Amino acid sequence: MKIVICSSEVVPFAKTGGLADVSGALPLALEKLGHEVIIVMPKYKGIEAPKYNLKKVIPGVYSTTEGKGIKVYFIENDAYFMRDGLYVDKDGDYKDNLDRFSYYSRQTLELLPQINFKPDIIHIHDWQACLVAIFLKNLYKDKPFYKGIKTLLTIHNIGYQGLFAKEEFPKLGLDWSLFSMDGLEFFGKINLLKGGIIFCDLVNTVSPTYSKEIQAGEFGFGLEGILTKRKKDLYGVLNGLDYSLWNPETDNYIAKKFSAKNIEDKYKNKEELQKICSLPVKKDIPLFGIVSRLAEQKGFDILAQAIEKICSMELQYVILGTGDLKYHELLSKIAKKYPKVVSLHLKFDNALAHKIYAGSDIFVMPSKYEPCGLGQMISLRYATIPLVFKTGGLADTVTKENGFVFDKYKKEDLIKTHEAAVKAFKNKKKWPALVEKAMQYNFSWEESARKYVQMYEKAKRK
Ligand code: ADP
Repeated sequence: MKIVICSSEVVPFAKTGGLADVSGALPLALEKLGHEVIIVMPKYKGIEAPKYNLKKVIPGVYSTTEGKGIKVYFIENDAYFMRDGLYVDKDGDYKDNLDRFSYYSRQTLELLPQINFKPDIIHIHDWQACLVAIFLKNLYKDKPFYKGIKTLLTIHNIGYQGLFAKEEFPKLGLDWSLFSMDGLEFFGKINLLKGGIIFCDLVNTVSPTYSKEIQAGEFGFGLEGILTKRKKDLYGVLNGLDYSLWNPETDNYIAKKFSAKNIEDKYKNKEELQKICSLPVKKDIPLFGIVSRLAEQKGFDILAQAIEKICSMELQYVILGTGDLKYHELLSKIAKKYPKVVSLHLKFDNALAHKIYAGSDIFVMPSKYEPCGLGQMISLRYATIPLVFKTGGLADTVTKENGFVFDKYKKEDLIKTHEAAVKAFKNKKKWPALVEKAMQYNFSWEESARKYVQMYEKAKRK
């Protein structure tokens, strides 16, 4: 099959979040399954020709190769993309984001005949690429080259929809009739994600549970009605994990590499982590870890309410994260008050993240909502037991069998689950069995890519 991946960020070229991880890893897995894949993204400031061996293919478009033969195309427009940020600066969203991503989408469609690549599927990611489908199904529908091309939209986080003022609508060159309840209109504004949901042949999110949750109540962020209408065409495929980056057997960031066969070595990492974090070096005390954005979505509102009580338990806590100032302040106070219990690191630090995944006993992820989540999958690979709220991708990957799960989003339940984890840790028989089993879970991209191919096949039959 011939597939185009349209994403505004792709590892290793540009990243602000999990979207880039998926857009980078999925094409490689698809290529391994024998498919012909190209990627199209904007050419941002950091994507320099010498660094990535870029060649100009046509005016305004550069390209390089990933994997064996995946061509990655970069749409150039210095006025739009030569900036420090991808979408925002310190004053918030760039004011011309609609112009920027509309230009990217138009140029993507224009590129295809010029490089003689007629795809079976265009796989669109998040609001930034939704105009590709909206333009294709409206402005390009009668052009012979584009006949029969199908589209799939993957929604990575429905909290981000691409909202713009009605006054900007004429710029898109679309008929005003599309600015309606059944089109791109959303409470008087343009909503690009809504347009993507309407005009793509199939819609997908990054876990089965999240695909259900967004059809109801607050999780849909106002798009639950339109998603329910497309229920039959809505899927949820769990993201994979890149095991070449997250593998305790080969991880150069950690003090001592380990595998299921020599799991005792995991505890050398615990010792090292306790030392780095100036916590008492003790094997018998459970060490809880967090690596996260410090945001309400990630559960920090209930954790903030529960943390004093949690600190009175017999445990240790290492927290790595950056985000909302209020959580920086609150956690700093707690770390100061309980220096032998809490070690706080307010920064983005990939090396320390690896050390926390490897050295902790329990990894905490009480997200209020979580489209997929990577931390729980990474921690399982490092024999660190996840403690999660039952939502989205967390509900699909963590159960009583391999972790600690609470299903009422309340501080009391978070506290109780910590108590249960401390108790389980002390059980000398059951704990080693749990740890050993954790390492056997496999969330590889190969499996996810196969499911994507099944979806592409379905879209082709539409
Ligand atoms: P999201 O994309 O919503 O932030 P995910 O769980 O999908 O959450 O992915 C977060 C990724 O970012 C994980 O790989 C996690 O280890 C990493 N990460 C988050 N915060 C930090 C940090 N402060 N330092 C290092 N890595 C971090």
